[in-house]
Amino acid sequence: MKLYKIFFYMVFSIFLLISAHDAFAKVKIVSSVPNFGDIAEEIGGDKVEVKSLSKGYQDPHFVDAKPSLILSLNRADLLLYTGLELELGWLPPLITGARNSKILTGNIGNLDCSTLIPNILEMPTTKVDRSMGDIHPGGNPHYMLDPRNGIPIAKGIADRLKEIDPENASFYDERLGDFVRRLNEKIKEWDEKLVPYKETEIVTYHKSWVYFSDWAGFEEVGYVEPKPGIPPSPSYVAELIRKLQKDKIRLIIAESYYPQKVPALIAEKTGASFLVLPSSVGVREGINTYFDLFDAIVGEVTSKLASITTKAGDFQDSN
Ligand SMILES: [Zn+2]
Repeated sequence: MKLYKIFFYMVFSIFLLISAHDAFAKVKIVSSVPNFGDIAEEIGGDKVEVKSLSKGYQDPHFVDAKPSLILSLNRADLLLYTGLELELGWLPPLITGARNSKILTGNIGNLDCSTLIPNILEMPTTKVDRSMGDIHPGGNPHYMLDPRNGIPIAKGIADRLKEIDPENASFYDERLGDFVRRLNEKIKEWDEKLVPYKETEIVTYHKSWVYFSDWAGFEEVGYVEPKPGIPPSPSYVAELIRKLQKDKIRLIIAESYYPQKVPALIAEKTGASFLVLPSSVGVREGINTYFDLFDAIVGEVTSKLASITTKAGDFQDSN
C-alpha cells in the first residue's frame, strides 16, 4: 500500500473514532416541556443533546402523543418532566412505547422535577378525584412560573448529569454556579420592577399563575375556569362578571392556548384589561430561554399595570 493511502486511512479512522466517541459521549436529554430542556442546556452545554417533546405554545396538559415522539424517548439517557400528573394524559403511553429501562420511574434517567421543589402549592388535604374534572389532583404543577424555582430545578438536573456522566462533573458544577448567579441577579431585577404592584388583584383563566402570584405578591380573586380543566358555564361567567364589577378587578390573565373569547367578553363587560401572557420557553419568537420568559412576563404585566394605574389616575383627576 502506498504511503499516502496508509496516511489517508489513518486520518479517516481517527476521524471516525472521534465522531463516534463524540456522539456516544453526549448525554441525551428529553424534556416533556421546554422549560426544563432550556435549563438542562444551560447546565449541560455541549456535553448534552436536548429535545423537548412539546412546544411552548401547546397546552402542557393535553399534548398530542404522536408516535414519532417515542423515538427520542427510546434513545434518551435522562427524561425530565413536571410530575404532579400534569403530563398524565400523554407521557405514560409514550414511555411505555419507548421500551427504554433507563427512563423508567425509580431509575437514574427518570427525573420528576416536582420532587425538587420545596414548596408545592395547593397540596390536597383530602383525596381529589380526577374524574370530577380537576386536573391538579396532586397539587399545583405550574411551579416553573416562579423563577425562584429555576434554582432547585437546575441543581437537581446538575446532580443527575453528574451521576450519569461523572467524568464531566466539574464542568456541570461550574455551569450550575454560573446559571444560579445569573438567575439570582435577574430575580432581583424582576422583583424591583414588580414592587410597585404588590397586592394587585387579578383573575386568571386557569389556575396556572398561583406560583407567579405568590412571588409577585398578587392576589388571585377568581378564575375563568370554575375548576382546573373545567370550562365555564354561562351562569358561572355571569357570576364572575358581577364579582369583577363589584370588586373593581382590573386585570385578567390567560395563556395563548386557552379560548380567548370568554375572558375578552368578561374584560369588555367589566372594563378590566385582558392580557395574554407567555408561560413557557418557545411560546413565541424571541422567548428562547427561561430568562427571556420572565423578561417578557414581568415586562408585559408591569407595563399593562402602569397603563391601568395612569388611566385610573387620569379618571380621579378629572373628577
Ligand atoms: Zn394546570
